[in-house]
Amino acid sequence: MSVEYDLVVIGSGPGGQKAAIAAAKLGKSVAVIERGQMLGGVCVQTGTIPSKTLREAVLYLTGMSQRELYGASYRVKDKITPADLLARTEHVIRKEVDVVRNQLMRNGIELYVGHGRFIDEHTVEVEDPTRAEHITVSGRYIIIATGTKPARPAGVEFDENRVLDSDGILDLKTIPGSMVVVGAGVIGIEYASMFAALGTKVTVVEKRDTMLDFCDPEIVEALRFHLRDLAVTFRFGEEVTAVDVGSAGTVTTLASGKQIPAETVMYSAGRQGQTDHLDLANAGLEADNRGRIFVDEKTFQSKVDHIYAVGDVIGFPALAATSMEQGRLAAYHAFGEPTAGMTVLQPIGIYSIPEVSYVGATEVDLTKAAVPYEVGVSRYRELARGQIAGDSYGMLKLLVSTEDLRVLGVHIFGTAATELVHIGQAVMGCGGTIEYLVDAVFNYPTFSEAYKVAALDVMNKLRALNQFRR
Ligand SMILES: Cc1cc2nc3c(=O)[nH]c(=O)nc-3n(C[C@H](O)[C@H](O)[C@H](O)COP(=O)(O)OP(=O)(O)OC[C@H]3O[C@@H](n4cnc5c(N)ncnc54)[C@H](O)[C@@H]3O)c2cc1C
Repeated sequence: MSVEYDLVVIGSGPGGQKAAIAAAKLGKSVAVIERGQMLGGVCVQTGTIPSKTLREAVLYLTGMSQRELYGASYRVKDKITPADLLARTEHVIRKEVDVVRNQLMRNGIELYVGHGRFIDEHTVEVEDPTRAEHITVSGRYIIIATGTKPARPAGVEFDENRVLDSDGILDLKTIPGSMVVVGAGVIGIEYASMFAALGTKVTVVEKRDTMLDFCDPEIVEALRFHLRDLAVTFRFGEEVTAVDVGSAGTVTTLASGKQIPAETVMYSAGRQGQTDHLDLANAGLEADNRGRIFVDEKTFQSKVDHIYAVGDVIGFPALAATSMEQGRLAAYHAFGEPTAGMTVLQPIGIYSIPEVSYVGATEVDLTKAAVPYEVGVSRYRELARGQIAGDSYGMLKLLVSTEDLRVLGVHIFGTAATELVHIGQAVMGCGGTIEYLVDAVFNYPTFSEAYKVAALDVMNKLRALNQFRR
């Protein structure tokens, strides 16, 4: 059986979903191919949604964010089990899957369950072991949105019990007393902070000398301080040479000779594009050694014009947020709908405990580019909302051009950072200056007020500079 569509999308993660819906809204016939049990993609099933829900469950059950108010021994539940955490995760996944399914259905998008592989450059076969006959679908346009899976370094035996990756961590049977996290990227640091909050003794091993080096160094320093306070040990500039598994746990050996005993080891060593079983060659395509497909960065077209690729499978920045937008833009490009293209202003959110978010330039970027700027800081402990919420460590930092007062960067550490960043993003996106933030009246008491305080801080510093000039 073969069915023809205007657009065939392989993968139902954020990139595939938004591509499919955008095309359907333009009145096109659309099919989405997704493997069984994976509707919503890595985003809904194993990545963003489970990890962020787990974080909420950890924050709630440990009572961590309330301890400043109620004391160090405050807890909602004393002995937290994986079942407590997973109950919330499973509930949210179920709901999200339902939302995705409903959105596809009400837009008239046909969902094919099975593994898609190219037969030729317009045709994809859908294999489902539970069906005797394989279906083929053909598309005038095809969008590959097959995402990634955790990379597994050679020589490490993942037993899904003591040695795991970020997929396996969701199936833990007990909360380990100790854990080694290999890799201090975003996923590694998010999970390290969650387990540290649960009371696990975490050691993070990272071969580079630092972590999250794309973020503001002052904020990374604050995060590191907080994680150390939760008994996290960092081993920077160290490489793992072996992980030995015994009946009581694991021993991780580093190139420097150090040995770290731990109940569990979690690898967070990058991700690999899911292209190995797509038969790309049948469509005239290939992937690089990390499974990524090369595309034009504006149109998302591969080297075969009518085949696009979006989301994690094309590499950086590999976020749900950007994947969705890439999907929409690719579909619009295919069907000739004009767009403004991918916005340069993309926020970054790191859901560590405490969370980090930023948009725009860092101080390092501006210094390198010799752009004169001033810094305005607001500390949560000086905001009434900070006191009410029991967050005394949070901060918001504005980087402002001293030439025209435009906001060049916003960096936030602490409660609601990933939400608050969008106020700065909106001001920057509209080409606004801090004069807007100085004059704006914010609800009181709010964290948003931090923008006004930081903007006033910049103004005061500039005023002081002008006094010296006189
Ligand atoms: C632990 C973790 C936490 C994360 N946290 C965040 C976060 O907080 N914020 C954020 O923005 N991003 C986060 N991400 C990243 C985010 O999940 C990804 O950027 C996003 O899911 C990528 O979307 P995608 O559309 O590329 O596809 P994916 O979500 O990767 O989905 C791809 C889908 O394609 C399917 N597929 C693959 N091959 C085939 C085939 N041959 N046939 C049929 N179907 C196929 C897969 O089954 C899968 O369902 C996180 C990721 C992880 C792992």
